[in-house]
Amino acid sequence: MLEDKEQKRTSLDNLGEFGLIEHLTENFNLSHSSSKVGIGDDAAVLDYTDEKTVLTTDMLVEGVHFDLSYMPLKHLGYKAVMVNLSDVYAMNAMATQITVSIAVSNRFPLEALEELYSGIDLACKLYNVDLVGGDTTSSTKGMLISVTALGQVQDHKIAYRSGAKPNDLLVVSGDLGGAYLGLQVLEREKEVFKVNPNNQPDLSPYTYIVERQLKPEARKDVVELLEKLEVQPTSMIDISDGLSSEILHLSKSSKVGCNLFEDKIPLDPTVISACEEFKMDSTMVALSGGEDYELLFTIDQKDFEKIKGNPHLTVIGHMTEEKEGNHLITRANTKIPISAQGWNSFKEE
Ligand code: ADP
Ligand code: MG
Repeated sequence: MLEDKEQKRTSLDNLGEFGLIEHLTENFNLSHSSSKVGIGDDAAVLDYTDEKTVLTTDMLVEGVHFDLSYMPLKHLGYKAVMVNLSDVYAMNAMATQITVSIAVSNRFPLEALEELYSGIDLACKLYNVDLVGGDTTSSTKGMLISVTALGQVQDHKIAYRSGAKPNDLLVVSGDLGGAYLGLQVLEREKEVFKVNPNNQPDLSPYTYIVERQLKPEARKDVVELLEKLEVQPTSMIDISDGLSSEILHLSKSSKVGCNLFEDKIPLDPTVISACEEFKMDSTMVALSGGEDYELLFTIDQKDFEKIKGNPHLTVIGHMTEEKEGNHLITRANTKIPISAQGWNSFKEE
């Protein structure tokens, strides 16, 4: 990070659009039988048979969603794919294809785009998805990257936001708050670097949370785990914005309420120590932080035995009748209404 390597810079002007697309995509192979034709024609040709197709798209804009002063391009490529795959997995589907569209200014050399595509390539290989197309265009300023992902799932296995019932258990994968705190660390180091560019930061105590921010992983493994455990989530969403707003999405779509237990929220020890350092409340960070890309879902109580004790899954609450509303039950056993903004509005209660 922040290192200044002597790098080769090949101007994009030398390649032309077709040369560039060919160069960036030549090593991508198709591995799914549903990918009949990928890059190279006017459109990709896909062949799905008995399953349903899910489709999702997300756009990342320089200066809004990422900052290239601490986000390596390889990580950006990887993350741009992850945020889309996460949405596919949140439908309980398996991702199969992606398209990648980029707009870049001529301030980026070819080598920068190679880095970006090496991250995309790694994501495709690790998550077994085919890159089947995209678009390449110039921008006057900055970089923009838009990924579309397709996935497949049997009709009866689709997990909508709207399926939760009162008394269903609320479950989350992994742990929360890390990505937000990783961002705080990176922002702080950026400010230090601006003042003293010779100061190389020691980020080793923060490896976990910085990785959560720069290299998030979509929870394909959780979808596979639920399948193996024979657990059908009654509703599901991925955590891109923060636990509180995702809970409210599930509750609203399902027309139910929710009780969330503060002492059950899973936190990594690094998150707890970073919260102490930044003088932040770890519950607030988990509720409002965002970008963790964990899965939040509900299950019928009869499935509790199947997930009990699983190290990847934590029961953090249960759904209620809609009229009961959405509440956080604190460690002190007080009941606080959950709001989408979490943070300040909590303090005012
Ligand atoms: P058209 O002019 O018909 O839109 P393009 O020249 O944009 O065709 O694209 C040619 C082929 O390359 C298409 O298959 C397209 O999907 C693919 N492609 C273009 N840009 C990208 C990209 N950035 N990443 C992956 N595939 C791309
Ligand atoms: Mg095009």
